Amino acid sequence: MRITGVETFILHVEVSGGAIADGSHRVGHWGAPGVLIHTDAGLTGTGYTGTHAHLASDRMIALCIEEAYAPLLLGRDPREVRSLWTRLQRHPPLQWVGRSGITHLAHAAVDVALWDLKAQAAGEPLWRLLGGSGEQRLEAYDTDGGWLDRSDEQLLAETEARLEQGYRAVKIKVGSRDERGRLDPGRDLRRVALVRGLLPTGARLMVDANGAWDLATALEAGRALAEHAVAWLEEPIWYDDLPGHARLSAELATPIALGEQLYTLDAFRDFITAGAVHYVQADAVRLAGVTEWWRVAELAHAHHLPVVPHIGDMMQVHLHLALAHPACTLLEHIPWMRDCFEEPATVVDGRFEVPERPGAGTTLREDALERFDVAR
Ligand code: MG
Repeated sequence: MRITGVETFILHVEVSGGAIADGSHRVGHWGAPGVLIHTDAGLTGTGYTGTHAHLASDRMIALCIEEAYAPLLLGRDPREVRSLWTRLQRHPPLQWVGRSGITHLAHAAVDVALWDLKAQAAGEPLWRLLGGSGEQRLEAYDTDGGWLDRSDEQLLAETEARLEQGYRAVKIKVGSRDERGRLDPGRDLRRVALVRGLLPTGARLMVDANGAWDLATALEAGRALAEHAVAWLEEPIWYDDLPGHARLSAELATPIALGEQLYTLDAFRDFITAGAVHYVQADAVRLAGVTEWWRVAELAHAHHLPVVPHIGDMMQVHLHLALAHPACTLLEHIPWMRDCFEEPATVVDGRFEVPERPGAGTTLREDALERFDVAR
């Protein structure tokens, strides 16, 4: 099988309620700049990354795929995906300008498309190609009811709705600011107590600051979280602050989760070996695809740390990865891109259904490009 064509797209889909806010940003759409990789076997692989639907940077990702990566792919066998990973990642002029950031997100899209092709060529869903049995019961936790811009009443109503749908794990955002723009952990702690009060015994509650707190706030508010039995505190401080996270991991009773903003296996190695993380939130579309995600999951597993993927791809690929990797028992749920896919990730009674179609779960619905592609 040979690669005969590389075609890009940029999907923008609206988020729940038209806008959402967390401790670091407010967005109205989720972006999925991506690639269709065509072959002489008649198969097409689909891959994409996840962004804040900022058209200028989405175009840079698409341009990187078209102009920098496509020439390295044309004529190659897509099933040689691990060797192609090295070919793209170690290409000297590209390595010089970016071992993270735009080139890495572009590489993620390509690598996912190649794994999609490899699984399609094998006639199997990706989780099976990666050695999963399909018997693993994968619990879902919901993130889409706990945004920072929702009122207390909305937050409680959303949580109640999730409980009725069968979820037994939810995550809410912290990192609130008052009207003068100062951090307001008092509001955060009040909302944590409200949601905890609604959850039945045994249900898990996680909180996510999206890097908004400084170290002093994280230490103080983090200590107060312990009395609400919070399962993890996610990205309490700036994403790259390894010593700060190591200190929080050592001093707080609440475990630390992070990884959605880490681009490389090297970054995860440093955080893991420093004892700066308890829940490893590797994201295959910020890391350079399935290939690098799997390496991070194995690294975490060797340190006996659970992997709870961040879902920059809105679940599709990560569902396959989590079903295949023994470090995963829990996966995030955000439904924004459901209308884009032939086989959207689906939760029933708090558990993910096992996808059956061959591929990585990325095949777009026939009308997806027409409805959501802003590049055409
Ligand atoms: Mg997060």
